This record gives sequence, structure tokens and C-alpha cells, in this order.
Amino acid sequence: MTGQFLTKMAPIVKKFDLLVLGGGSGGLACARRAAEFGIQAGIVEEARWGGTCVNVGCVPKKVMYNTALHAEFIQEHKGYGFDVELKGFDWSRIKKSRDDYIKRLNGIYESNLEKSKVERIIGHGSFTPDKCVEVNGEKYAADHILIATGGRPVVPNIPGAEYGITSDGFFELEDLPKKVVVVGAGYIAVELAGVFATLGADTSVLIRYDQVLRTFDSMISKSVTESLEAGGVKVCRRTEVSSVTKEEDGTLTLKINNGVIDKVDCLLWAIGRVPNSDSLGLENAGVIVDKHNNIEVDEYQNTNINGIYALGDVCGKALLTPVAIAAGRKLAHRLFDGKKDFKLDYSNIPTVVFSHPPVGTVGLTEEEAELKYGKEKLKIYTSSFVPMYYAVLEHKVRCHMKLICVLPEEKVVGLHMVGQGCDEMLQGFGVAIKMGATKAQFDDCVAIHPTSSEELVTMR
Ligand SMILES: Cc1cc2nc3c(=O)[nH]c(=O)nc-3n(C[C@H](O)[C@H](O)[C@H](O)COP(=O)(O)OP(=O)(O)OC[C@H]3O[C@@H](n4cnc5c(N)ncnc54)[C@H](O)[C@@H]3O)c2cc1C
Repeated sequence: MTGQFLTKMAPIVKKFDLLVLGGGSGGLACARRAAEFGIQAGIVEEARWGGTCVNVGCVPKKVMYNTALHAEFIQEHKGYGFDVELKGFDWSRIKKSRDDYIKRLNGIYESNLEKSKVERIIGHGSFTPDKCVEVNGEKYAADHILIATGGRPVVPNIPGAEYGITSDGFFELEDLPKKVVVVGAGYIAVELAGVFATLGADTSVLIRYDQVLRTFDSMISKSVTESLEAGGVKVCRRTEVSSVTKEEDGTLTLKINNGVIDKVDCLLWAIGRVPNSDSLGLENAGVIVDKHNNIEVDEYQNTNINGIYALGDVCGKALLTPVAIAAGRKLAHRLFDGKKDFKLDYSNIPTVVFSHPPVGTVGLTEEEAELKYGKEKLKIYTSSFVPMYYAVLEHKVRCHMKLICVLPEEKVVGLHMVGQGCDEMLQGFGVAIKMGATKAQFDDCVAIHPTSSEELVTMR
């Protein structure tokens, strides 16, 4: 029975202070923090505890990124004097270790809920017409209901699209495919293509325009597109797939606008994500979504319906785990800890792309800053150098950095970098930018030598 058919007459099996739909990053964070304030919280999850991040996102992705880093380091051992012979790579071994790790995390998330006294309800949750939630034919009421149901990858509507996989399927692969085509230009496409190529697969990335990461600062999009190519990825520009056929030998043939790509072992769609808002019975509760089906919320995560909130990927804004977690915790404090003004500030969110080399970025892109302040009000500092790590290696990977400052005080409103170590460099600079640091304050901080990050406090 679905929420639509459960009438007002159906009995309510339990009433909570807070009921959360979705046991992913945002939902877990909100439910557990709220429970600290002595309220009765419940959480509904239809799949595995931890959501996208833990099961098919950040966590297993980072394990595979680390795996790929090993492949890179092996190439560099010789330059550092090591005589190491590579005998092979066993994908199934790292997959097993990764899966075991994720299972342990699922268990930790579950036992954390238990410890926090948050009631777990397993199943698909949806709204009934009387603003309750139905799961497995049982009806639950709550003073406050949070929707944190995340999103899912999109598959295009073309013949044969079903022969491809998405990022979810990437984590099910039992072996490294020989020939891979990744379709998409966003960070998930870049990261997964990087893993495939670094581990030795013949990898192509199909993009609609000329560069990947087009919403990032132009220095980043240019540099990451170049580094993909330097890493052996074929970047096929202005290319779209119109159909896919499966051949007798099991390989795929892709019809593209300028020919065909055949003998493909793995086709991966990374063309975007849609919110999980379509099977929640939102129409029963009267919750409004935008034209992309993202749930509309105000800055306090309130939907248009009193007592119903939404956050994380289902709202379609800043699709990142720490964003969902921070919004969830702020909401818990606002609703149950008397912090009436608590809300997440969505500006200056630092973010990393685990490309090869990685990207770190926070604040406005140069293009955005020009629009906001005018070109004449900006002072841009850039630096491009070879990190010392490569000094003794034949092969060099440059690091590029950019600071975008607003005159006259040169407040830093954007920081973009791509190069070895930039992923771990960003967090501290994120704090400085959030505090409104100026270029002079950056320069006041004594450099740490020899590092790549010292460049950020010595730019002229
Ligand atoms: C490949 C990949 C890599 C990523 N890498 C990073 C990264 O490096 N860093 C980063 O910050 N972010 C990363 N992300 C994004 C990050 O995973 C998401 O932003 C984050 O998980 C969003 O959290 P959420 O709570 O909104 O939703 P989710 O974590 O997706 O949780 C939603 C949960 O709700 C459940 N659910 C859905 N509908 C219902 C229902 N009706 N009833 C019950 N349960 C339901 C789902 O099963 C799911 O468990 C990555 C994502 C992907 C796909």
C-alpha cells in the first residue's frame, strides 16, 4: 500500500518529535544531533545506512583514487632510486577490501543510531494526505519531518543506454575494463576516468563542449582537461552518443555524432544527477519542487509546508556531503536547541576534485568575480610552477594557483589551484577566506618551506 491510499483513518503506529526520510549524510547528521537534545527521533532508510557518500560516492571513490595514486607512484619509484618491478594489479583484491570497509562503516552508522537512541525504520517512506509518513503500510506522525533523500545518477534517453553503467555501477565492477568510455564533463566523470586511465584502461571521455569542469574557474577547466590528456585519456570534444548496441562478443558499439566507437567494455554515464523527490508522495503533503524536481527550501531549509524541511542533494544545491551534514546539524540546533537563527551559509564552500593532479577551489571564479565586482575592481595573482617533488623526476606535473582579490583592500574572494597536494592544502585557506582575509593577511603568514602551499602566501 502506498501513502496515497492510506487514509486519515489508518492508525498512527508512532509519533515522533522528528522523523527523517533518508539515512544518508544529511539525514543521519540531523537525526543524531537532534537526539542529543532529548527528543524522540526516527529515521527511515530504504537501502544502506550512510547513503550515497558511504556506499557509492565519496568513500569508495577515494579508496579507488588512492589505488590510482599507487599506480602513479610506482612509475616514479625509479627516479627516486628504487628498482621495483611491477608484477600486476589485482582489482578484485582492492574491491574486496573496499567493500569490507564500507560494510564496517554501514555497521558503525547503524550502531551510532542505536547509541543515539534514534529509532531505525527500514523501508521506503512517503507522505500520506494527512502529513504523516507511511513505511511498509504503517503510518508514522511527527511534529517535524525532514526530507533528506538525496539523488541518483541520470541515464540518457537514447536507444541502448541501458548497456551503460553509472557511478553506482562503477563500484560493482569486478575487474578493470580494458576499454572504457566515460560520458560527461563534471567532477564525477573526471574522477572516475582518472582512476580507469591511471590503472591502465584505454579511456575516453566524451564531452559536449571543449573542456571538462566548465563551471569551475577557467584556469582549472583548462588545466584539468590538459592533465587528463597528459594522463592518456582521450578527450573527445563536441561529442554526443546517439545510440548504443551490444555486440555478440559482449562489447558495445557507440554511435556518436562523428562516427562510431567500438569494442567498448565499459560505458559509464556521468551526465548528472536528479533528486529523489518523485516517489515521496510530495503532492500529498503539498511540498513544492522546482522545474528540476529539486525540493524548494528557504535559507533555513524550510519547505513551503510548515513542519516539513529538506536538505542535501534533494534540494539540488552544492551537492556535497559536508554541506548536507552541516545543514542537518544546523537544523537540529534550530528546531530543538533554541538556536533560532541557525542556518548554513552556502557561500565560500571549499571543494576538491580528485583528479590527477587534484583540484582545490573556494569562492568565486574569475568570471563570477568580474560579473559581481567589475573587471577593474579585481586584482588577480597567478602562479605556475613545478613542485619540488618532480625536481628529480623526468616527468613533471605543474601546479597552477590563482587568487582573486577585490580592490582596494584586496579581499581574497576566490582561490583556485590544481597540483600535487592541493586537495589537502585547501581546508585551512578555506577558513581564512571565510573570515574575509585580505592578500596582505595572506602575505603576513610566514611561508612553510619547502612546500607547494608556500606559494599561496608569497604571490606577487
Ligand atoms: C561518485 C560520487 C562521488 C562523490 N564524491 C564526493 C566527494 O568526494 N566529496 C563530497 O563532499 N561529496 C561527494 N559526493 C556527493 C555526496 O555523496 C552527496 O552530496 C551526499 O551523499 C548527499 O547527502 P544526502 O544526505 O543529501 O543524500 P544521500 O547521502 O544520497 O542519502 C539519501 C538516502 O536516502 C535514502 N532514500 C531515498 N529515498 C528514500 C525514501 N523514500 N525512503 C527512505 N529512504 C530513502 C537513500 O537510500 C539514501 O541512503 C559524491 C557523489 C557521488 C555519486
